Amino acid sequence: MSRKIEYRFTLIEVLVVIGVISILASLLLPSLGKAKERVKAIHCLNNQKQTGLAIQSYMSDFSFYFASSNSSKWTTNLMLNSYLSNGDILCCPSSKIPRYADSASGWFTYGAIYTNDASNCIQMSAPQFAHASRVYMLGCSLSIENQKPMFRMFAQDDVSENYGRPHLIHQQKVNMYFLDGHAEGKNMATLRDVVQVPNWVKYAADQSGSVYLKIY
Ligand SMILES: [Zn+2]
Repeated sequence: MSRKIEYRFTLIEVLVVIGVISILASLLLPSLGKAKERVKAIHCLNNQKQTGLAIQSYMSDFSFYFASSNSSKWTTNLMLNSYLSNGDILCCPSSKIPRYADSASGWFTYGAIYTNDASNCIQMSAPQFAHASRVYMLGCSLSIENQKPMFRMFAQDDVSENYGRPHLIHQQKVNMYFLDGHAEGKNMATLRDVVQVPNWVKYAADQSGSVYLKIY
């Protein structure tokens, strides 16, 4: 007759195993969080490239004019005229509004340059600008007052907290789409090279979204 051998863990062994698992989890979770955020930043860049192409397609049909005002929102123009079918690509996946359905019909989305005058659209085409790779068209945005992204970004000195500004949401970087068709992440230092028609980018919202940082 064979004797059954029973293995039992002592309480101390169980506690040691739980302790080891907790230590491993605490070591792995932050790096998993960072990896997840890196994936979102890449997702965001792809969104912006698709959105940028839709804008440029729209502009090529309208003599390179870009309409971006409260009464003629660029997001609505793209959606209603079928330049875009999936509104979610207008939204930064790391922002508080990652889905178009929650964007108040295109109000809380990526921010684009803004004229505040529907009759005075900006004419933008790469040949117009000597450094098209530095002229940005849209990017991850934030209005500190609303604590939401905003479809319009201002170049003015006035730091009203209602204004959308580039948001350093991706590990201290803001993703931006440029007039030459490329998209990339910019940090506070490299934002100094970015042109926001007709001026330079002057402010950016910090990662936590609590303050506008002065670039110039
Ligand atoms: Zn983003």
